Amino acid sequence: MGCLFCKIYKEKIDIIFENKYFYAQFDKFPASPGHSEVIPKRHVASLLDLSDEEWKFLKPAIRDVIKIIEKTDLKKLYENFTRTPLNEKSRWFCDQMLKRPYINRKPDGYNIGVNEGEAAGRTIHHLHIHIIPRYFGDVENPVGGVRHVIPHMGNYKSE
Ligand SMILES: [Zn+2]
Repeated sequence: MGCLFCKIYKEKIDIIFENKYFYAQFDKFPASPGHSEVIPKRHVASLLDLSDEEWKFLKPAIRDVIKIIEKTDLKKLYENFTRTPLNEKSRWFCDQMLKRPYINRKPDGYNIGVNEGEAAGRTIHHLHIHIIPRYFGDVENPVGGVRHVIPHMGNYKSE
């Protein structure tokens, strides 16, 4: 009851993609321009709860959402999000995106991942696969990528 991602699908709120088992949306609190989530239509908490049949539809979903991110006018998107924000915090996040000089550049890479469990940072207990576009120059040194979820333990190549 009261699951946000079930509600978004049921009410078709700003859905950007849909296949047999998954849908996708742009995150309203983006970490990076184009930040999206691929979400199973079925309410499951864990990546491991997906059936083999659903799993087969996940890869094309990720591929197609990346295509959508790359052809979306993100400046226009966040201008719209800030004009009619979900709430004040969302407005702040979207406004930060508008300040990124690379906002309408094609992403140079992606972090694609799941916060699997509360200890890993999951706050909405309906599986969602984050697709976070990355741009050269968005952080000082991206080496280590998702390892940076543990502060100071990301870059194993630093001096
Ligand atoms: Zn749900």
